[in-house]
Amino acid sequence: MSKKDYYEVLGVPRGASDDEIKKAYRKLARQYHPDVNKDNADAAEKFKEVNEANAVLSDPERRRQYDQFGHAAFEGGGAGGGFDFSGFTGGGVEDIFDMFFGGARGGGQRSNAAERGGDLRLNLEVGFEEAAFGVEKEVKIKRSEPCSNCHGSGSASGGPADVCPECHGSGQIKVMQNTMFGRMVNVRPCPKCQGEGRIIKDPCRVCNGTGCVRNTAAIKVRVPAGVDEGTRLRVSGGGDAGLRGRPSGDLYVYLSIAPHKLFTRDGQTVFCEVPISIVQATLGAEIEVPTLDGKVSFKVPEGTQPNTTFRLKGKGIPRLQGIGGGSRGDQMVKVKIVVPKNLTGKQKNLLKAFADETGDNINPEEKGFAKLLKNLFGG
Ligand SMILES: [Zn+2]
Ligand SMILES: [Zn+2]
Repeated sequence: MSKKDYYEVLGVPRGASDDEIKKAYRKLARQYHPDVNKDNADAAEKFKEVNEANAVLSDPERRRQYDQFGHAAFEGGGAGGGFDFSGFTGGGVEDIFDMFFGGARGGGQRSNAAERGGDLRLNLEVGFEEAAFGVEKEVKIKRSEPCSNCHGSGSASGGPADVCPECHGSGQIKVMQNTMFGRMVNVRPCPKCQGEGRIIKDPCRVCNGTGCVRNTAAIKVRVPAGVDEGTRLRVSGGGDAGLRGRPSGDLYVYLSIAPHKLFTRDGQTVFCEVPISIVQATLGAEIEVPTLDGKVSFKVPEGTQPNTTFRLKGKGIPRLQGIGGGSRGDQMVKVKIVVPKNLTGKQKNLLKAFADETGDNINPEEKGFAKLLKNLFGG
């Protein structure tokens, strides 16, 4: 299997810190996001690779396994093995881990087809402020839901199902398999009854005995305050309904954040640029600065230099509940000094008078610069 190295995919060294991985992932996820690369199969493939690499490297336990075993850590076991991040159909990463590493994730050995419906994924774009302060969104999703005709039983008469002759009701069959750990007995869902252990004799005509029908559902998704680009939300039970009344899978919502006209962000820090005049920068001034909470007034000190950045404490993005207890990051305000154009004659004369008054050297830094020039080139 010629899968790309996860560190290579994210462009980070093997010893990269969690922060480096997070940063690299964010950048690439933004670059290859399907919403900005419509109909670009290459980007879609990249996006998938990047997400897969991040899912492993951002999880300390999975990263450790990957460092030790490479891609082999996640292969084998289930039918086909490996990840499928784009589909999330029928069992997922966790099931593979459960099978291979002895159910450390709490599931034990489970035959995923029989257990519950498939997980679904959905991309959702939220506004900049919505990501900062949280929002409830209604999303539409195609999924399978319990059949109303047979109430999810799959049986036309509603009667009980018969025991499957193939697996005698256990829903499982045993398969010998050669793996990197030697010969293993693998338990798989019974193909005759799809792991149900039971067979419907008089299948419901609406759902063909599955107990499920395809529907478009409107689901409310609560986006908590402080989410970031690429944050994954889980809507428990929001996925496909399970066969014949089994529990539904989950819905995973992948968030992207719409760009803002004034602000950008990195984690919990918000950045913006504010133009001020040369006079305001020179003499100092009270200016208005936009923040997520509206305008605030801010005192620019006398002699402010171009591109000086000021910090507004607590005006950034709230930290996710549980991670930072709802406290907020800061806002960084960079002042852009605007040099005036199209001056009137009077304005020009005033500036000339100013130059005459100050002489050639306006401030000590310039004096130093003039001295440097003299030393280098003479004169
Ligand atoms: Zn039905
Ligand atoms: Zn069976």
